[in-house]
Amino acid sequence: MLTFAEFTELCKSLEHISSTLEKTARIASFIKNIESDDDLYNTILFLSGRIYPEWSERDLGVGIGLIYEALRMSTGVDRREIENLVREKGDLGLSAEEVVRKKKQTSLFQEELTLKKLREVFDEMSDLSGEGSQKRKTILLSELYISCSPIEARYLTRLILKEMRLGVGEGIVRDAIARAFGIDGEIVERAYMVTNDYGKVAVSAKNGGRDALLRLKITPHIPVKMMLAQVAESIEEAVRDIRHLGVEWKFDGTRVQVHYSDGRVTIYSRRLENVTNALPEIVREIKSNVKEGVILDGEIIAVRDGKPMPFQHVLRRFRRKHGISAMVEKIPLMVYFYDIIYDDEEIIDLPLMERRKRLTKAVREGEMIKVAQQRITGDPEEIRRIFDDAVNAGHEGVMLKNLDSRYIPGKRGKNWLKLKATMETLDLVVVGGEWGEGKRSNLISSFELACIDEYGNMLKVGKVATGFTDEDLEELTELFKPEIEAQEGKKIIFHPRYVFEVAYQEIQKSPKYESGYALRFPRFIRLRDDKSVEEADTIERVARLYEMQFRSKKHQ
Ligand code: AMP
Repeated sequence: MLTFAEFTELCKSLEHISSTLEKTARIASFIKNIESDDDLYNTILFLSGRIYPEWSERDLGVGIGLIYEALRMSTGVDRREIENLVREKGDLGLSAEEVVRKKKQTSLFQEELTLKKLREVFDEMSDLSGEGSQKRKTILLSELYISCSPIEARYLTRLILKEMRLGVGEGIVRDAIARAFGIDGEIVERAYMVTNDYGKVAVSAKNGGRDALLRLKITPHIPVKMMLAQVAESIEEAVRDIRHLGVEWKFDGTRVQVHYSDGRVTIYSRRLENVTNALPEIVREIKSNVKEGVILDGEIIAVRDGKPMPFQHVLRRFRRKHGISAMVEKIPLMVYFYDIIYDDEEIIDLPLMERRKRLTKAVREGEMIKVAQQRITGDPEEIRRIFDDAVNAGHEGVMLKNLDSRYIPGKRGKNWLKLKATMETLDLVVVGGEWGEGKRSNLISSFELACIDEYGNMLKVGKVATGFTDEDLEELTELFKPEIEAQEGKKIIFHPRYVFEVAYQEIQKSPKYESGYALRFPRFIRLRDDKSVEEADTIERVARLYEMQFRSKKHQ
């Protein structure tokens, strides 16, 4: 039986190794020698700072306050003193180690902790609820601290906080399992994708090797990580790179994975939380309109008078624990399904084209349930039109999908590309333009945009040519004609007088414009005739939005 001391020895050595390869090797040789399945399972999970798999609804329900209280009970050192240590050491784990060390000098008896014992206590804690449960948890935890050596207290605390600080990410766990049991890393990864539980994968690998891993399949009511999308570089590039392209609206809602099997519906959020209870009307609709034995992927949106409401409303519904029926009235929802990954069997390896066929068969459309329409086209103009339709209908843009591709859980890849008009709009000065072509030759059909600097200089950031209806262009042409300062061929220079509100997909650094920035896919939203040129957005704001993109990308 594996002792907690042996496990913490491993943790301590990992904390001092910086090389990924060495960490992998160290874990591989450790797990290779573990005899019991349970010990192996616990080791893998605990190393990753998890007590239960990511998707599990079990949780210790232990907060920082409870840890302080358990430490006080077991060592006699109070919160204020430990907080001082935390300020000094920057880590509650190290501080717990320190207070337990001080206490240990006087204590005599110490029961040896095992991973099995820890698991039992954790299970007991997570089963507790209601009155008195916090007190009981505090006692259980303080008993653990009493049995802990100082170094064990460090890792026990970190484990409870779900932050081991070992530098062991999913990639290292995957490679260590592959190495320990002589299996190809890709097979280990696939097994993880379908089970979402590296503990289970390790145990299967140990007992049945490669074949056992290949036998692991998606199971209804256990969530699967969702396939993600990359930003499309451009429509042209997407059309060039993807031979069979399916274009769908990118709905402005919230991702859901719906499992319907054995008479039961379970709905998971993008973070794999079970949100079923918050969505009773969707559950009802699914039961009466969807074939049983499926896992569907889609988007829930909030609608009012046929128009999507901002997606924050959907999130409010998801978070709701009480008074749900009132919310059903207040924030009506509907769901658009766009994929299926299980249809009486796992079907992630079928090409999207085939999955779509299965999807349309599995779902009967109604008021609240739809299958996302998909247009198969490689024509950039048509894609742009679909993009405009989506945005005009209040959605985010379009998804460009490779119809020949498999469903790859948890991966952001080139088989799904997103093209969206971002929400942060800019108010920019119109400083130039261009006459249109063909039937638009008497209309000004593109406009050059600039932000301003603190001296009021105009610094160009791009050109907008989409988002206008013909009617818009007629009106704008009339409005701008008196502002033409100079013309050369089709090119026009305007007196800076009007401000446009524009959306865009991204801000890039660019040497092309004097501002140093360029907008990708700018779209006209409206003429801000309530704003003067001096009130247009500044170069500082453009720079800030540019920086913010990186922050929000990290959180995706
Ligand atoms: P993003 O959140 O910007 O990375 O964009 C990807 C997200 O778009 C997915 O996680 C979905 O929640 C959402 N989405 C909306 N419509 C679709 C669609 N038709 N296909 C796939 N994802 C979609």
